[in-house]
Amino acid sequence: MFRPIASWMTRRAVAAASRRQGPDALHGLPAVCDICAAWPARTFCDECVARFARPQSRCATCALPVPPGLSTCGACLRLPPPLDTCVAAVRYGHPWDRPIAALKFRGQAGLAGALARLLLRADGAGAALAAADLVVPMPLSAARLRERGFNQAALLARPLAPGRCDGATLLRIRDTPPLSGLTRAARQVQVRGAFAVEPARAARLAGRRVLLVDDVMTSGATLHEAARALRIAGAVSVSALVFARTPLE
Ligand SMILES: [Zn+2]
Ligand SMILES: [Zn+2]
Repeated sequence: MFRPIASWMTRRAVAAASRRQGPDALHGLPAVCDICAAWPARTFCDECVARFARPQSRCATCALPVPPGLSTCGACLRLPPPLDTCVAAVRYGHPWDRPIAALKFRGQAGLAGALARLLLRADGAGAALAAADLVVPMPLSAARLRERGFNQAALLARPLAPGRCDGATLLRIRDTPPLSGLTRAARQVQVRGAFAVEPARAARLAGRRVLLVDDVMTSGATLHEAARALRIAGAVSVSALVFARTPLE
C-alpha cells in the first residue's frame, strides 16, 4: 500500500538525508529536489534543470557566454588562453552556489554524482571527455586536503571518468590568497608556481591529452597555471571541464 512519505518523514528531513547520503542511500525512498524541494525527484528535478541549467552558447576556450553562432570570444581571439577547450555547465550563482558549497565543504558524494550528470549534459562535455587520455581533478594543497579531508574536484571527476581519473600527477604545491578584485596580470603573478608535476609520474604526461576538472572557474588564472605546468611537463593538449563559470567581473 502506498504510504505518503510525509506521514512519517518531513520533506525537510528527506532533503537533509538526501543531501547527507545521496538519494541512493535512502534505499528506494524518493528524494526531494535539492533546489526547490519538490518530491519525489532526482537530486535536481527536471523543472529546476530546465530553468536553471539552460543551454547557453559559450566561448570554446574560456566558457564565458557568447552570442549564439559565435565560437570564441574577442578576448580569447586576442590572447588565446593555455586551454585548448573549456566547457562549463552553468553560470555560477543562484541556485548552484548552495549545492556547490555543500560539495566543497561537506563532501556529499550524492551531490557530486548529480552535479557530474549535469556537467555531462553540457555542450562539448562528452567530446572533451572522449578526447582525453587523462582526467585530472584540480588538486588541493596537502595542507588544504588534510584540513578538508577530500578534494571536491576529485569527487566530481571520478564519476565522469571511471578508471581514467588521475589525482596524483598534478600537485598543488602552494595555496594562493583570494584572487577576487585583482587584475588579470596580478592574478597571474599570484598563482605562478602554484602547481608542479609529481616527478615520478611526469613521464605519463608526454604526448598525452589532459582534461582538468573543477567545480568552479572564476577568472581562470588557477586553471591556466595548472595547464601551463602540465604543458611544460609534456602534455600535448590541456582542456578544462568545470561545473560552474562565474560571469565576467
Ligand atoms: Zn526542483
Ligand atoms: Zn573566451
